[in-house]
Amino acid sequence: MPFLGSRLWIDFANSAPVALGDFLATPEGWARWLAAAGLKVGSGLKGAADANLADVHALRAALQRLFDALETGSRPAAPDLDLVNRHLVAGAAPPQFAWRDGRLLVERQEAGDMDPLVAIATDFADFATHYERARLRHCANPECSLIFYDTARNGTRRWCSMSACGNRHKVRSHRMRAAKLECS
Ligand SMILES: [Zn+2]
Repeated sequence: MPFLGSRLWIDFANSAPVALGDFLATPEGWARWLAAAGLKVGSGLKGAADANLADVHALRAALQRLFDALETGSRPAAPDLDLVNRHLVAGAAPPQFAWRDGRLLVERQEAGDMDPLVAIATDFADFATHYERARLRHCANPECSLIFYDTARNGTRRWCSMSACGNRHKVRSHRMRAAKLECS
């Protein structure tokens, strides 16, 4: 299961890599993904067991399209934003005052206590208000479908992972160089 996107919502969008298949094809797969993502299984309004997979897949497809829109700087499709909005509204939990040890506190709901789809939608909402467009990228391997947000300081990340696509590229270009030498 790839968790290489640097953001929860991008990892979620990456949960059906072309080469590996759909990790969220079954409720069990969804539960496994949630556990791997560090989200509480069975927490929030709607746990993994009773989650409607159609809702999961619809949000994922919307976020995949939203990534492409942000990456290309084009206007996101209104239905995709509406869908994210619906999850945000469904999970909206206003901050609550609490009095503890003689102090007034404001308690906010933590991601781990949210419905997983709300937590993912919230992560997208936090991201969408401040990101650098040039750091949104598709893996440079044309056979790889993974996307990521480049958080490296120099912003030169090209691969979903060096150990997978990066090394494969290195080996291939080495072989090509060797083949060219033999021909000449
Ligand atoms: Zn890749």
